[in-house]
Amino acid sequence: MLKFLIFTPLSKTDMSDYLIVPTDFCKAGNVLEGKGSLAMFERVASACADTSGGLAWRVAGSIDAHGRPRLVLSVKGSIHLICQRCLEGMDHQVDTETAVVVTFSEPEADEVEMTLADDDPTEVIVIDGKVDLIDLIEDEALLSLPLSPRHEVCPDKDAGRWKEEKVSPFAVLKGMKGAAGGKKK
Ligand SMILES: [Zn+2]
Repeated sequence: MLKFLIFTPLSKTDMSDYLIVPTDFCKAGNVLEGKGSLAMFERVASACADTSGGLAWRVAGSIDAHGRPRLVLSVKGSIHLICQRCLEGMDHQVDTETAVVVTFSEPEADEVEMTLADDDPTEVIVIDGKVDLIDLIEDEALLSLPLSPRHEVCPDKDAGRWKEEKVSPFAVLKGMKGAAGGKKK
């Protein structure tokens, strides 16, 4: 589970601090955490109804039992997605955590994947050189988003409109049966 996050205000000039060499980061057991508005996450923002939300993240590096660099990415936040039923904005809580084993090549990634149990949620990624943690955090957030976000119950006026639209084919059908005679001209 997520530990307490220390929210660090982030400016554009701080971005370079998030460019890391994963092996070094993991060997040192480094942890980076922070918080930013959606304006920082263009790809996430493009999936949102507006940019009013924000994300807090934590990236923890370690070396796993097999001596491989491992990152645990945690992202939490509150954003507004677009309901696919009524097309209005809807609150969505991002709360996701994924462990990632970092490899340096595709063949190595394949090897590591073979060693993971089918139900092991650990992801394997290939990073040769540096990586911008903000990109990883953004990927993590994007992957956690529902494919087709919907209000549990759409706001009243829209729910009404939706209900009307969805129900009307049956109503029309019933109406046609009942009014079959009347339809003749
Ligand atoms: Zn809705």
